[in-house]
Amino acid sequence: MSRKPLIAGNWKMNKTGVQAVEAASELKRLVEGKEDVEIMIAPTYTCLYQVSQSLKGSSISLGAQDLYWEKNGAFTGEISSEMLVDAGCSHVIIGHSERRQYFNETDETVNRKIKAALDAGLKPVFCIGETEKEREAEETFSVLDKQIRDGLKSFVSDDLADIVIAYEPVWAIGTGKTATKEQAQEAHRFVRSLIEKLFGKPLAENLRILYGGSVKPENVRSIMEMPDVDGALVGGASLNPLTFSKLVFFNNN
Ligand code: PEP
Repeated sequence: MSRKPLIAGNWKMNKTGVQAVEAASELKRLVEGKEDVEIMIAPTYTCLYQVSQSLKGSSISLGAQDLYWEKNGAFTGEISSEMLVDAGCSHVIIGHSERRQYFNETDETVNRKIKAALDAGLKPVFCIGETEKEREAEETFSVLDKQIRDGLKSFVSDDLADIVIAYEPVWAIGTGKTATKEQAQEAHRFVRSLIEKLFGKPLAENLRILYGGSVKPENVRSIMEMPDVDGALVGGASLNPLTFSKLVFFNNN
């Protein structure tokens, strides 16, 4: 089974426009010619258009960190899928644990956002993952099961060809704690099996499942060796273009 790896950077609430363009341009230079790995970066909303201009001529994709499901209207402060496409995005992160934790994101709102993204032709990077408490209570699989069933409710297999799932154990995000490669593989295997059960084998086999949680140049290779790990969603280590480029080149040397 050959799934093209995807290394995605979530810049979170970091970088002004000038800094974002500088970082994107530097990354473009560093990864030039790297064709066997797909690369995506997700700057803040305010930088999207500028960064899309600076990425012209490169294969790096642009993503947003969230969206709102309505197309337009009286929703102060929100951004629609069409606006993201207009700003140059091809991807959008949905259901990140920080959105779930601080901004009342639920499986139901995640479901609506995934629908809005797909309707607009955006590729959702759908984030799931258990908290430390849930892992200690041995609830990891039941949490992932619910997040997937509810997040993907009402979709059929054909709708989901462009979706990417990111397994991000909440206890490993920004903490320096990384899941072991065996823990990552076990969760990814569970996710792929559930997708097969719900949507069939072809979708499950083609689905890319990213691991996220303190991925760095020192650990990326061992995690990427696992058979059901198809890439990484990276926070902290994506902010520096040189460090991020080392993740992109995980399969070299
Ligand atoms: C993330 O925010 O998706 C993430 C994985 O962050 P970090 O790499 O900093 O743990």
